[in-house]
Amino acid sequence: MANVLWLQGGACSGNTMSFLCAEEPTAVDLVTDFGINVLWHPSLGFELGEQAKQICMDCATGKTPLDIFVFEGTVIQAPNGTGRYNLFAGRPMMDWVRELAAQAQIVVALGDCACWGGIPATAPNPSDSIGLQYLKRENGGFLGANFRSKMGLPVVNIPGCPAHPDWVVQILVAIATGRAGDLALDELGRPQTFFKSFTQTGCTRVQFFEYKQSSVEFGQGTRTGCLFYELGCRGPVTRSSCNRILWNRQSSKTRAGMPCIGCTEPEFPHFDLMPGTVFKTQKISGSVPKEVPYGTDHVTYMAHSAAARVAAPQWTKEDLFVV
Ligand code: SF4
Ligand code: SF4
Repeated sequence: MANVLWLQGGACSGNTMSFLCAEEPTAVDLVTDFGINVLWHPSLGFELGEQAKQICMDCATGKTPLDIFVFEGTVIQAPNGTGRYNLFAGRPMMDWVRELAAQAQIVVALGDCACWGGIPATAPNPSDSIGLQYLKRENGGFLGANFRSKMGLPVVNIPGCPAHPDWVVQILVAIATGRAGDLALDELGRPQTFFKSFTQTGCTRVQFFEYKQSSVEFGQGTRTGCLFYELGCRGPVTRSSCNRILWNRQSSKTRAGMPCIGCTEPEFPHFDLMPGTVFKTQKISGSVPKEVPYGTDHVTYMAHSAAARVAAPQWTKEDLFVV
């Protein structure tokens, strides 16, 4: 049995909504089959007011053992470092976070906001929002770079806006069944099983990417061309498993014709949402992408692109998925 307490800070509840859509296993399976004991959750808990406060207080003081502390949303520090813009049970939420994280065997940051601040931490960041152990890519965050939970782990970051339901439930199952030590985390605290490969891995458009054939505008057909060259797809520079573990067991953004907007990376929302930066590939001199696929450089990329375009066969200019 693993006790789970789940709280929300500066959040839209999107990660809770995503979690409740989980299928393998479902949220109910976690309780009935995998020994997860949800002490309290803001959307699922029956307790209100003083009762909810007492549950949290018992965890914060160590009276109730806390195995997994899940936090969704940013830690709000405004105004002036008091955290009083976000009160929970009569206290700043950030005080609860500090005390509960100190008692938890494992701390899980769920979604971009909890991992690195996400959209609320975008300039000018009026709520002084911050992630649990990162602010964007900078290690530190609210709990500090040296924070380790009682089990000796840094905050386990499950990013996404929202995170895929399977990423959440499968990590919770691994922890609850005593396999937390098997979690290989990357340098940003993300489980590598979900965040080592790229969004591009498994994308149905990758053959068009290889031959540099572009979709030039939305509505051109959802299966022709690659979205990297004009429409700002971040699939080659984003670590996620969205095209390996499909959403709703059916699809992904890129399969549906929507560019990946890189939501699992600390810089999301990229370019601080400045006009002209969304769904538009940022270019140098109007032709070369500012950001080239991970692990290459501009010179190599340009040489490879030129050769690929020359070599592109006719089928790369067609829709391969005729029904
Ligand atoms: S750039 Fe985007 S659309 Fe193109 S292959 Fe990669 S993930 Fe798919
Ligand atoms: S496809 Fe990209 S933007 Fe969409 S959920 Fe996956 S990582 Fe996030």
